[in-house]
Parts: sequence; structure tokens; C-alpha cells
Amino acid sequence: MQKRHRVSLIPGDGIGPEITEAAIRVLEATNIKIDYELCLAGVAAEERLGAPLPEETLKNLRQTGIGLKGPLIVKPGSPPIVIGQPPRTYGSPNAALRGECDIFANVRTAKRFIGVPSRFSDLPVDLVIVREVSEGIYVGGERKIKPDRAEAVVVATQKAAEQIVRFGFKLAQREHRKKVTLVHKANVLPYTDGLYLETFYRVAREFPEFPAEDRMIDAASAQMVLDPTTYDVIIAPNQYGDILSDLAAAVIGGLGLGPGGNYGESIAFFEACHGAAPDIAGRNIANPIGLILSGAMMLDYCGEHEGATRVQRAVEEFLKQGSELTPDLGGTGTTTGTAEAIARFIKTFS
Ligand code: NAD
Repeated sequence: MQKRHRVSLIPGDGIGPEITEAAIRVLEATNIKIDYELCLAGVAAEERLGAPLPEETLKNLRQTGIGLKGPLIVKPGSPPIVIGQPPRTYGSPNAALRGECDIFANVRTAKRFIGVPSRFSDLPVDLVIVREVSEGIYVGGERKIKPDRAEAVVVATQKAAEQIVRFGFKLAQREHRKKVTLVHKANVLPYTDGLYLETFYRVAREFPEFPAEDRMIDAASAQMVLDPTTYDVIIAPNQYGDILSDLAAAVIGGLGLGPGGNYGESIAFFEACHGAAPDIAGRNIANPIGLILSGAMMLDYCGEHEGATRVQRAVEEFLKQGSELTPDLGGTGTTTGTAEAIARFIKTFS
């Protein structure tokens, strides 16, 4: 009998509900059986349940272990989110979701698609960024010392460094990649980034089949816009990974195309690179491809590798054909039209 998968579905804010509906439409076309369990988070949850990350959403994710998520709006000036016993404090619902699900790796891919105009449309860009998300400068806390002085703390631990580096090399093995690069700034941060650098080369010895190299974040960013094919798998501490992954998405033709997965020991959830795009919400013009490809990453995680490949191939075909593209890709197409067209391609591959 065909396996059924349980997935926590977080439509999220802004364009979130439109693109999650589109992603579900495409995943349905694979005929893989998925039972979606609706969960609220973000502004939608605050309005209906009084909290941006309700306990029932976390409970559901802990039960299913898998989530498909739209973006969540982070309202400027919102009070910190406090969860749990003893309380843990987060600056945004996205950070809270990652923290409470013990997510340590955020994986984003950037692949050149034939048919999508970009600076490098003639180069076979295909890279993956493995970003550490449990520590770094985003979780160490920030404080104002005096009106004219503030400080932020960078957290780096041996455990998290080893976990992310090993995760990156194993991903490289699984995906038959060719090279692994650590990005850092260990020359000015010898204890924190230095710990990642030392750990990287120590763990790399367990994976002798891969050339391992390191680059400073400043040089790595310049190289990303000079020749992104320099890279294959990039492992990066939290903030460098955050910035590099948007840069990589821009390099291949826009934020709307980038998928992402968040991985912990027992929970993984999948979301596009971009945010809630409130400026275009509710107009059926958002590009759903980033979330559709995140859905393919989810299928892979569920062991549905063939289904994942069919979704990826259908997206490639859709983009190659180049009709009905959404406005961010220079077309006049719609979110729903994109989903229907990709779903049709999936059927032709079965
Ligand atoms: P954004 O990614 O939402 O939008 C940046 C620009 O890209 C906008 O012009 C938008 O219209 C466009 N864009 C983004 N996604 C698109 C798509 N799929 N199709 C077509 N165009 C698209 O970034 P922002 O404006 O800085 O953030 C908006 C909100 O989203 C903020 O509240 C932010 O905190 C939140 N956010 C959430 C996440 C997340 O949930 N993981 C990530 C980033 C930002």
C-alpha cells in the first residue's frame, strides 16, 4: 500500500497562503499521498489565536516531524517572543520556530534555470548553501550599554560547528557534489570563526573524497558575483549564510526561485528563500516556484525521491518553455497559472 505522509502546513502571511496553495496543487499532481494539518503562525496566528507562534503549532510539528511553511511577517518594534518553561526569548516568529524545533541547518540551493534571464544565464550555476542557524550573532543577544553604545554577542560552540560541518559533507556525499567550501572571517574573529575553521579541516579528514577549501566572507561574496560556479557546497556560520543565500538567489535570477529546508534532529520544515512580500500579496502574481521546489526538498526528505525529481524536472521544463511566467520573471502570468502549468508537466513525466 502506498505510504501516506503527515505534514504540518503553515500558510503564513502576505503571499504565504497563495504560494502554499500553489505548492500543494503541484505536489498533488505527483499522486504522493500527503495529509496536510493546518497550523497557524505569524500575523495570521496573532490575529486569530493571540500569539505569533501558538503552542498548538509547535505541538503539531513535533508530532508530524515535517512542515511546509509560508513566510511569516516580522512586525518592526514587536516585543520579543517568549516561549516555554524555562522561558526562551526570540526576536521573530521565524527564529522562534527554528529554535523551538531545534533546527541547526538551513539549506538553500541556487541553480541556473534555462529560460530565466540572469547575469549568469550562460554558466551552469548549481550550488548549495548550508547555513548554521542555532548559534552565531543572531542568537547571542544584543544590548544597549549606553545611549551611544550597543553590543552583540557571537556564540560559537564545538558541538554546533561539528554538527553543521558533518551535515554539509554528508549532503555533499548524498548529492554527489564535488567540492566543499567553508566561509568565515577567522582572521579577525579567531575564537568564534576560528573554531569553525579548525573544526572544518578536522572533520574534512573524514571525507577525503572532497577537496575542502576555505574563504573569507568578503572575498567569498566578491567571488559569488564574479563567478558563482567557483562554488559547489558552501558551509557558513549563521549570518554569512543568511547574506550569501540571498546573494546566490539574486545571482540565478531572483528571490522567487530559491527553495530552502530547515533541518533538526527530529523535525524538518521547508520554506522558500524569500519573505512575505506584502507589496504583492493577494494579487495572484507571486512566484510560487521557490516554495514548489521547497516541496520537492520535502519529498526527498520523506523518501519520495522519484516524486522530488519529477517536481524539479517539471519546474525546469516550465521555465524553459517561458510562457505564463510571473511578473518577477518578466512575464504576465499568475501564481495559480504557474502551479497549473507545472502540475501538467508532472503528469506528462509519469
Ligand atoms: P521579501 O522577500 O518579502 O520581498 C523582497 C522583494 O521581493 C519584494 O519586492 C517582493 O515583492 C519580492 N518578492 C519576494 N518574494 C517574491 C515572490 N515569491 N514572487 C515575486 N516577488 C517576490 O522581503 P522583505 O520585503 O524584506 O520582507 C517582507 C516581510 O517578510 C518582512 O516582515 C520580513 O521580516 C518577512 N520575512 C520572512 C521570512 C520567512 O518567513 N522565512 C524571510 C524573509 C523575510
